[in-house]
Amino acid sequence: ASAANAYSAANPESQALHERARQVMPGGNTRTVLYYDPFPLVMVSGSGCRLEDADGHTYVDFLGEFTAGLYGHSDPLIAEAIGKAVANGINLGSHGRQEAAFAEAIKERYPSMELLRFTNSGTEANMLALALAKHATGRGKVMVFEGAYHGGTLTFPASEVPVNLPHDYVFSRFNEIEATREAIRDTGTDLACVIVEPMMGAGGCIPGDPAFLRMLSEETKAAGALLVFDEVMTSRLSPGGLQSELEIRPDLTTLGKYIGGGMSFGAFGGRADVMSHFDPSKAGSLPHAGTFNNNALTMAAGLAGLTGRFTPAAARELNERGDLLRRRINAVMSEAGAGIVVSGIGSLMNIHPVETEPRQPADLAAADQRMRDLFFFDLLEDGFYIARRGLMALSLPIGDAECDALVEAVSRRAPRWAALGG
Ligand code: PLP
Repeated sequence: ASAANAYSAANPESQALHERARQVMPGGNTRTVLYYDPFPLVMVSGSGCRLEDADGHTYVDFLGEFTAGLYGHSDPLIAEAIGKAVANGINLGSHGRQEAAFAEAIKERYPSMELLRFTNSGTEANMLALALAKHATGRGKVMVFEGAYHGGTLTFPASEVPVNLPHDYVFSRFNEIEATREAIRDTGTDLACVIVEPMMGAGGCIPGDPAFLRMLSEETKAAGALLVFDEVMTSRLSPGGLQSELEIRPDLTTLGKYIGGGMSFGAFGGRADVMSHFDPSKAGSLPHAGTFNNNALTMAAGLAGLTGRFTPAAARELNERGDLLRRRINAVMSEAGAGIVVSGIGSLMNIHPVETEPRQPADLAAADQRMRDLFFFDLLEDGFYIARRGLMALSLPIGDAECDALVEAVSRRAPRWAALGG
């Protein structure tokens, strides 16, 4: 209670804004993930990797808009591209000049996406990929993994009451090779597709075992089903996503987050024969509507970011920085005997109050939410903004100084975390 009082005393303007929002939105909220007790902070401005809240406190942004903020805040190149699109009339009710160029830039990075389409979000991209897989195969079942997150209407943690699309789901467990192989074979000719994140993101930054992911590729092929890689979060982990690192060519891929340059974005694409079901020049094709699918701001921002900022060299440097940061934090935690691990790959990571790295979300069932809250509020107090669930995503403006400062803060706090967690 005293910690909550101190938090209220330090953040009166955020509290007032929250109270106001509660009058017009349930719980004052329009993105469930942003809610926390006693009230969430309201950020009012950002620049590079810095944020300022409504009460004037500043933070280093280690959340990076839940991975979509890869370019940092108001990158000048992206801001200029958006400015030009605004000056040009924003959306013109037609195809635009930059659409094909943006699609080409994506296809160059993701050769498996022979043809692709844009959506407004990663959720929509996944909805369309699943609908397409069912249509293209003429089959009804969709395999998903327990604890997976494929968007607001495709969410599979056991702890949640989902608001999900009513597909005929077959559940299996992430990284369990033999059980999953068997489930695919058992489902046989009813299986339309398997959808998988090559690293579970919201599930806790849990990397897929390459052997597990390769098995999915082989078994879906043998079953005549499609493999859908949800790379909405993992696309930043190399210039061409995890599929290029793993050398796996999924039938369909979905993208989102940073690829839109910080604007609303999603895309799905894959095998030309499958994607051609959306070709409106063909009789009986599938419709795919969406007023803002090709919105000019996203096309401009996304193209500028991918071609001018997130170059292959920048992608490698960012992910090396993340690997190093994760190793350093894990070394500090282990030395302090804190019973805390940081999982992830490259620029994406999650702090967990558990002894060993999770291999599937069930391994985190015993994690103590109070410990997660403790890191979150302690780091906030030290001027670092991460997700309350422990997710961190590096952005391009984060440099050595910011990483050093975070490691220093963690080193200072770790003995107390060890004492409280043990
Ligand atoms: N798929 C994955 C793996 C995600 O992490 C997310 C978002 O966090 C989504 C899909 C949904 O994307 P959006 O929030 O743009 O709808």
